[in-house]
Amino acid sequence: SQKIRIGIVGYGNLGKGAELALRQNTDMELVAVFSRRRLEKTLSGVPALLVDEAEAYRDKIDVMLLCGGSATDLIEQGPRFSSLFNTVDSFDTHAKIPAYYAAMEQSAKASGKAAAISVGWDPGLFSLNRLLAGAVLPQGTDYTFWGKGVSQGHSDAVRRIPGVKTAKQYTVPKQEAISGVRSGTLPPVNAHEVHVRDCYVVAEPGADLAAIETAIKTMPHYFSDYETHVSFVSEQEFEASHAGTPHGGFVFRTGQTSPDVNHVMEFALKLDSNPEFTASVLVAYARAVFRLAQHGGRGAYTVFDIPFGWLSPKSAAELRQELL
Ligand code: NDP
Repeated sequence: SQKIRIGIVGYGNLGKGAELALRQNTDMELVAVFSRRRLEKTLSGVPALLVDEAEAYRDKIDVMLLCGGSATDLIEQGPRFSSLFNTVDSFDTHAKIPAYYAAMEQSAKASGKAAAISVGWDPGLFSLNRLLAGAVLPQGTDYTFWGKGVSQGHSDAVRRIPGVKTAKQYTVPKQEAISGVRSGTLPPVNAHEVHVRDCYVVAEPGADLAAIETAIKTMPHYFSDYETHVSFVSEQEFEASHAGTPHGGFVFRTGQTSPDVNHVMEFALKLDSNPEFTASVLVAYARAVFRLAQHGGRGAYTVFDIPFGWLSPKSAAELRQELL
């Protein structure tokens, strides 16, 4: 059968991760990468084109992976591309998801395309697991822990402090909190009670280290509510030990089905590369969106609306063989 033809819009960490993920999926082929920048070439050798050249590919690409940033890119690129293509994106600005859904629903319904929004791991795979656990154990408590992982927003906030040359912030769940959930003894908690913020900072020569540490620890919204650790490291150590983008986390639900009958549901991720993993989720959903469109799907969808079996390259009959 014919391969699913894929395009990538936005060539940052996520876009490059999608290119790697597509190499591992033989039922799909990458047709082209579209960027706002004039790129010299792509990792895989497919054409690197400008976003304005995408319209000419309407009949040559089945699903467009939108790999731009949530803050400003997707707000504009989502509606624009879903008016031309089936799309998958990883929009993750929590408070704006309802408005983004409405914009995508409108553009994709008008064009007769299917758009999967807010796909990734959180939102995405974590959201699916919270839904599943809540439906199975209606009497219970949810817990989500993030990390150990790099928070881009918090790293940026530290880098903006005067005297900071570069910095990275890891969010780390407290081990005793995770053990507490697994043993069913932890009461409901707030994120700031169960996560530590670990900062690695390279200071400018002669900078006031104590002032930097105070500026970090007292920063409202970002650090002041959290247990925060600050370590100053040399540029060499920073490059050797803090170059990657690891992430991950845990989704738990504990609940009772009758008095003293307890259950713990747990889903965990430990990722060496946040963008490579997130892109792999996007690619699996590209297959599902292709099938959704074939089945007459029009408009915007979230991970909650898309049949699980459509993520797999296997047919429904093959999957039935694997039920047990
Ligand atoms: P990047 O900053 O690497 O890329 C975002 C865009 O910036 C790219 O599409 C690219 O657009 C542009 N860009 C990239 N590199 C450069 C450069 N050197 N110079 C100029 N422009 C550049 O972001 P990520 O790929 O790391 O992340 C994208 C989004 O993924 C995040 O905003 C987040 O919303 C989402 N995400 C979601 C997750 C989830 O679980 N749902 C998890 C992780 C991320 P162009 O090629 O057009 O210039």
